[in-house]
Amino acid sequence: MFIVMEKIATTQMVARVCYEITQMGLSAHPITGALRTAIAVTGNKAQVDSDRLLSLPGVKDIIHITEPYRLAGREYQPEDTIVDCGRGVKVGGTDFLMIAGPCSVESREQTMIIAEQISAAGIKVFRGGAFKPRTSPYTFQGLGKEGLQILAEVREKYGMLTITEAIDTDTVDQVVEYADIVQIGARNMQNYSLLKKAGRLQKPVLLKRGMWASIEELLMSAEYVLAEGNKRVILCERGVRTIADHSRYTLDLAAIPYVKSASHLPIIADPSHGTGRRDKVLPLSRAAIAVGADGLMVEVHHQPEKALSDGPQAITPADLTELMRDIRNLAPILNRVCP
Ligand code: PEP
Ligand code: MN
Repeated sequence: MFIVMEKIATTQMVARVCYEITQMGLSAHPITGALRTAIAVTGNKAQVDSDRLLSLPGVKDIIHITEPYRLAGREYQPEDTIVDCGRGVKVGGTDFLMIAGPCSVESREQTMIIAEQISAAGIKVFRGGAFKPRTSPYTFQGLGKEGLQILAEVREKYGMLTITEAIDTDTVDQVVEYADIVQIGARNMQNYSLLKKAGRLQKPVLLKRGMWASIEELLMSAEYVLAEGNKRVILCERGVRTIADHSRYTLDLAAIPYVKSASHLPIIADPSHGTGRRDKVLPLSRAAIAVGADGLMVEVHHQPEKALSDGPQAITPADLTELMRDIRNLAPILNRVCP
């Protein structure tokens, strides 16, 4: 860490900062330049909580060298984490994960029709929301426990793993009973009590990036889960808010290679929420695998115009067949194993 002093900082101000640094058990090394003094700080094993130093007189800025995340960082673990989701399904390294299903479990009939087609496409992980975090309290909120039971039927009948969202600490235990992978949604990325609870689960966790969150904030949220002992964390880029008005969110594809260099955790892309529009899901899926995503999560509906949530972004089962053909063609070029 470097502390940059104001040009007008006095020697007393520099001495005070050095004193505070030594009080923190660290070493201070002032470097006197022609215009200003900088103080190099050594001896820290993690990022220093620098707020106290920033408020001292004469301090202009603080430059951190050490990342604030430890367990999620590549420096902590240089090799890729490969998350084992069960039944031979893995993500990370060369393993590419495909997740597909409706936004919401709407009924037993709707879910079974879609599951049949998703299973036929060779997909091993079925998604469907039972507890839905909706922007409006007046729209469909999900079937709750009944939805989880329908997912369990899908698991039983088709042998697919299931992933569904836990929206709060009250219902996470119900979700864990039925889901193979627990999803934490964009709106809950910084729900720290939910993250801590997810960290104590014996199930993999899919952590979606908040639509307003930086990569550092995403990795700090992953840190909450890892710090509680759950090492099976899968990250998900699902689009962020930008000035773009041609899509609902902007799928931040540049985040994917960045996360892969900063962290050992696998990261998948969700081009459905990332664009909000069906016609963009296939092109952005192809782009996501090309930039190094470890998998995809896409929303599929046999009757998107009748969907109770996210119909405009749902692709049809026929689109999914086309997508799988493309992904299977691209995978070997990118050294990926796709189911
Ligand atoms: C979802 O996957 O259904 C969902 C609600 O996603 P997000 O949290 O990214 O909005
Ligand atoms: Mn959705």
